[in-house]
Amino acid sequence: MTLFDDRTGHITDEGFAALAGDTLDELSRLELAEHLAFCDLCCAKYAQLTEQGPLEQPSRPLAAPTMTRIRSRGRVILLRRALKVSVAACLALTLWQAGAFDALTGMSSGHTASERRLQIEQKRNLDALEELSEEHDEPAQTLNMKISNAVDQFFAAIHPKGDNNQ
Ligand SMILES: [Zn+2]
Repeated sequence: MTLFDDRTGHITDEGFAALAGDTLDELSRLELAEHLAFCDLCCAKYAQLTEQGPLEQPSRPLAAPTMTRIRSRGRVILLRRALKVSVAACLALTLWQAGAFDALTGMSSGHTASERRLQIEQKRNLDALEELSEEHDEPAQTLNMKISNAVDQFFAAIHPKGDNNQ
């Protein structure tokens, strides 16, 4: 049996046939395998020869179980995405309720909770001063203006750009 062509050094047709069959001894099989490992030409020829054989059939149908696994995996991915969105929404809602976005955007109309409390406090003080001014007209009026100016300065300090709430 001639496994290799003496002229070219490649595997002969007889060699390929022997490789496909089960007649080769261990050493010859090893020699052929070694040649196939580095010779692209013989490797391509061997691949072509083995392609012609009948395709193996799986012992049990695989299409249905594979599709079930794909669908199940898709559900898991969808569930994870929904979970991420829910967590993000909860976090956003919590931050919004805590007034974090008011502080971040610095909306002039929507002041923070502490600023609103200060506004209410300021209103109370002015009301009290108005009551006082009814009794002592002139000095209370100046005091009222002083406090009002101080409050204005305070809010100007909070908003350095000068978008005062008054
Ligand atoms: Zn070869």
